[in-house]
Order: sequence, then structure tokens, then C-alpha cells
Amino acid sequence: MPDHDPTDDFDEAPTIACSRCGREWDLDEELADLGAGNHAVEQFALDHRRHTGHFPDSVSTWRATCRNCPEETEHLSRDGATRWAETHARHTRHRIELHHARDQGTTVVDPE
Ligand SMILES: [Zn+2]
Ligand SMILES: [Zn+2]
Repeated sequence: MPDHDPTDDFDEAPTIACSRCGREWDLDEELADLGAGNHAVEQFALDHRRHTGHFPDSVSTWRATCRNCPEETEHLSRDGATRWAETHARHTRHRIELHHARDQGTTVVDPE
């Protein structure tokens, strides 16, 4: 039995797919530039949204959806989504729901 399975090497270059674009990307170049796996994925996801308006499939995001108006936003971190929700609630007195792409359950942010 070999000590090292050569397919392990693929773990170091995560692949990101986007069904809306019908494309797949290999992040080995980004990894070489940025050094860290998660950071490269995060950076790629943010760049992808900046250019296309949506996140790739394999990235789980926090989505904040207003119950009172059509405003909604997507963030990679819970903090980002919560900050948006709190700010929106403060200015508009609307209620916002926070959903995570993978987790069940909803957090509601109420205006103060
Ligand atoms: Zn896309
Ligand atoms: Zn609103």
C-alpha cells in the first residue's frame, strides 16, 4: 500500500463550479498568489460576484432578506450579513431574515 495517494494533491487546488455560468475553475493560480486555500476561495467568490452579480455554487453564503421590501444581500460571513441587516433595520425599521446556504433555520433581525 503506498504511503501517499497522488490524488491527495488535488486537495490543494480547490475547484469552484458555477451552474449559472456553466463553468468550472481550478484555483491553483489563485492559491499560488494568495497562499491559503480558504482565502483563495473567498477571494474568488467575491470577485465572481463583483463581475457577474452572483456567487458560485460551491460557496455557502449568508443571505439577508428583508421582509418589508425587496432588499436582499449575500455575504460570505455571518458578520457581514448581520451588519447589513442591522443597518437596514436601523434605517428603515424593517425586519430582516438571515439564512445560511447550508444550515437550516432562520435568524430574524428586528429594528430596535
Ligand atoms: Zn457564475
Ligand atoms: Zn427593507
